Formats: sequence, structure tokens, C-alpha cells
Amino acid sequence: MDAATLEAPAVGHSRTPHLADADGEFISGEGVVVDVLGSHPAGVRTTREQLTALLNAELGRLDPLTGQILNMDVAGMANMLLRDALREHASDIHLDPLEDGLQIRFRIDGVLHDAAQLTREEGQRLIRHFKALGGLDPVASFRPEDTRLTYVLDERELDVRLACVPCMGGQKLTIRMLERSRVAAQISELGMGELYLQRIRQWLTHMSGMFLVTGPTGSGKTTTLYALLHEMKLLDRSIVTIEDPVEYQIDGITQMQVDNERGLTFAEGLKAMLRLDPDFLLVGEIRDPVSARTAVEAAVTGRVLMSTLHSRDPIGTVTALRQWGMDDHEIASALEVVVSQRLVRRLCPHCRRPAAPRKDLECWAASLGWSLPERVWRPVGCNACRNIGYRGRTGIFEIWYLDEEDRDLILSHAHESTLRRRLKNRPGGVLFADGLARLESGETSLEELRVALGDCARLYKEASLSHGANRGDDGTPAQAEATA
Ligand SMILES: [Zn+2]
Repeated sequence: MDAATLEAPAVGHSRTPHLADADGEFISGEGVVVDVLGSHPAGVRTTREQLTALLNAELGRLDPLTGQILNMDVAGMANMLLRDALREHASDIHLDPLEDGLQIRFRIDGVLHDAAQLTREEGQRLIRHFKALGGLDPVASFRPEDTRLTYVLDERELDVRLACVPCMGGQKLTIRMLERSRVAAQISELGMGELYLQRIRQWLTHMSGMFLVTGPTGSGKTTTLYALLHEMKLLDRSIVTIEDPVEYQIDGITQMQVDNERGLTFAEGLKAMLRLDPDFLLVGEIRDPVSARTAVEAAVTGRVLMSTLHSRDPIGTVTALRQWGMDDHEIASALEVVVSQRLVRRLCPHCRRPAAPRKDLECWAASLGWSLPERVWRPVGCNACRNIGYRGRTGIFEIWYLDEEDRDLILSHAHESTLRRRLKNRPGGVLFADGLARLESGETSLEELRVALGDCARLYKEASLSHGANRGDDGTPAQAEATA
């Protein structure tokens, strides 16, 4: 490894706040992808060829006289890779060893795209270079390692996180780009309809109890919580968080990082937070009986607590809390608002085309009791979207703001399907209603909805069938327009 190449980028801790989702999933708004035009006129496939050629040229500068390699400039190659990833608005760069080379892929709007391919030796040199910059031993390790660093590229500071694992064929490295400018910082930028924004603002005017955000990994939960934090910071109150890892640093907020090796678990951190006399608590995730117990107790004793929880829909949080040993009385008094969300890719407005829904997807929707609009939109691909057909992502939402009747139902130990049926018929409706509204307006495609909502589809089906409801009557999203 050439020591001189290590001096180029500065390594250190970031001072500037940055925003990215803990799941690495960015919510990026319209107009975010602007500067790719012209740089890669023929889209991702050409990008891959171009980047591969550029990287190889950078590596293999041969002396025309001797045929010897003059300058194996691995730092230049690393810069080029990051520059390209930024231009493509990639959230992550994957460097995967192949049998005879190294595959470089970019994650753009949640989907991996081929970016370049290097020889095995070149690829491993690039990985060793990044590891050395991050203060890790460049030699292949037998255990997973991760670190973060500030990389200076073209006089601009980039916060990146490196994760490296030993695997068949060498080391695999993932570089996560933590870029503030790409992430919405305001609640209004998340993609929520006006009705839901009002509900959130209503909660913000007299905050109390637990505010939970649910959804699978990569659904933008952390982005939503941080958008809330940004609004709350204005209130000049004490806010303490415990996260794993701290991805966004926000001035004026006390942030603790989970460190299991040193005994600072979520549960321990939560107890410590309570001793700091905070007004608001943010817990990265409620994931076990101990953190659930501490969180619920904090909420019922008058603290405002925000957290995320893995469940397929808002009602699933009640079941999860019950399974972790909370009794109905505690749940009913602690829970205030539950947001359920998914991320879908936005159709590129320049090239999307109207089309009839695909037959198999129409059948899928019909099996759930949802009727699709006659005309939906499909992706095509143009220069503006790098031939992908999508540009950026948006959240689709369902918000459960508990009322007295909900609390009575929880207290009477009502089954989750009873609670779910009630929610389904309220203004705003369930995730599907929001999704269908976005489908109708051409914001996203049916294919995206199928991927985003596949996991919770069965829940709605059960909720409507178990009650013997006529799906023709209550299966349609009567209030879909409310969130449009
Ligand atoms: Zn396009």
C-alpha cells in the first residue's frame, strides 16, 4: 500500500449535522436528481462501462517506453468512485469480490445497480485503501469491522460509514454515504398528505405519551423521527436520544450511542436517560421486553417518548407490546400516535406513461378487496432518470392517532383484527389507501406498491374477512382522496 496515497482525504469526526436513515434509506424529494443529465447520457449501463474504463485507466497508467505501471493511484480511483456515486445519488456503494474480480454496485433509491468491475487485485487494493482511511487494519480480517470517517472530496466533506466483512473470495466492503442534502429535514417533505400532516402537528402542539414509527427495515422510520426532532428543537426543551448507531448529529440534542461491548444497551441507556431529567426521549428501537418496559413506564409517568418498532402495521404494535409483557392498561395509557410507513420509488415525471394495470397485479389487488384506478402509470426511462424510470423516493403512510374508543378496545383486550377494522374505515384509511392515491396521481407505479405493501397485505385481508364483511362494500379505500 502506498503510504502517500493515504494522505489525501482528511479523516476525523464530522462537525456538521448530517441526515440519513439508520436503514440507509433516504427519502429524496423531487428535483433531487438534477445533475446527471449529460454526464451519462445513455443511462446506467453506459455509466458502468464508463466508470470501469475510467477506473482501469486510473489504475493502469503504463509507461509507454518500458510498459511498467507508472502510478497505481488508488486514491484517485477512490475519489472517482465516490464522485460517481454522488453524481448518481447512490446511498451505498457495494464492493463485492467475485471469483476473478470485484463487482462495484451502487444502491440508488433502494435498488442495486451495476456500476463497474475491477480485477481482483485492483479491487482488493481499493478496499485496503478505504479500510486504511477509516483506521481499520487494511489486511483481511477474520471478523466484521465497521467505522465512519469524514472524506474530503473536491473541497467538500463527505460523511461515510464503512462496513467490511470477510467472505468467500476476499473482503466485502460497503460504503454508506451519509449526506445531509439528500434527506428531507421537514415533516412536510416526507410525502405525507395534508390530513396526516395536520395530525402530526396536532400531536406536536400538546405532545404526550408514546409516538411510535413502524415498518420494515429500510422504510425510512428514522428519517421520520428526525424530521419530528427538527420541529421539536424549536421548543427549547431537553431532548435526549439513544441510538444504534447515531447517524444524524443534531446541535442542541444529547445523543447517546449504544455500545453493547461496554454494557450500554438500549435498556441501560434508557434508564440513564431518565436520570438526565429530559422532556423528550428518543429511543432508536424498542426491540425487547426490557426496552419496552422502560419505554412504557417513561411514557405513563409523563415523558414524551419517540421510538421505532418492527411491526407490519400500526395495530401490530399493540400485539408486540402485549407479547413483551405490557398489560392492556399500560398500553392504553402510553400509546398516543403510531405511524406506519413504507418507501416507494417516484416515477420519473419526464418519461412515465399511462397504462392499464398489469393483469396479475390487478388480480392481486382484487384478492385483497381493493379496486384499482382504470389508468395507472408505468416507468419508461430517459436521460433525466438514468434510464431507470424512477427518480427519488417518497413515503406512504398510515397514522393511528388513538381515540377513547381505541383505548377502550385495548382495555377490553380486543383482538388486533378488531382494532384494524376500525382503523380501516377512518379518514385517511390504511397504508393501501394512501398507496392507491399515489398510484392514481401517477406518483408511483403498481409494481412499487406491490413490493412495498406485500408484507402487510394479508393483515388487511384477514381484518376484512374475519368479520365476515362484504369486501365489495368496505374493501374499497373510501377515503383515499383524503391523503392525496
Ligand atoms: Zn425518466
